[in-house]
Amino acid sequence: MGLEEKAGDLGIVTTTLEGVVNWGRTKAMWPMLFGLACCAIEMMAGQASNYDMSRFGLELMRASPRQADLMIVAGRVSRKMAPVLRRLYDQMPEPKWVVAMGDCASCGGVYNNYAIVQGVDEIVPVDVYVAGCPPRPEALIDGILQLHEKIKRDKITDHADGKPVRIEQAERGALKPLG
Ligand code: SF4
Repeated sequence: MGLEEKAGDLGIVTTTLEGVVNWGRTKAMWPMLFGLACCAIEMMAGQASNYDMSRFGLELMRASPRQADLMIVAGRVSRKMAPVLRRLYDQMPEPKWVVAMGDCASCGGVYNNYAIVQGVDEIVPVDVYVAGCPPRPEALIDGILQLHEKIKRDKITDHADGKPVRIEQAERGALKPLG
């Protein structure tokens, strides 16, 4: 018995290479395993069984930046931590994405002082901002889904010329130098 007799006429499915590549990227993201403050607890809850971010392709939190393609900045970033965070980002292979989780990571939050970076987009390019103090795991998951929608609009050529898009952003001055 052939497949057609078993499953009926499946027809022909066509798509673009770009669509398949972007689909693969969204369905197998590997976030980096690190948290900075209280928001990290909500991120951990997001990976636990109640919310289970694995359902959205985030199966493994990787302990090495070299194996991760998603940085979730969960918590406030101190000026002292900023160069470390930037180094971790630089060690991640392209293509890579950043989610700023919570008010502190997005804009400094309640920490309007000299010791805290007033938005992590001063040091790394942020793709999605998740509001809240702290955001609930559902909000983080919503942010991840927004990121997936963004990735689906990516062009393969964005990452194909050997020069990461983010480096170009940095050279254009989109990112501020560490100070
Ligand atoms: S946004 Fe709120 S919960 Fe998150 S790190 Fe800042 S103070 Fe903590």
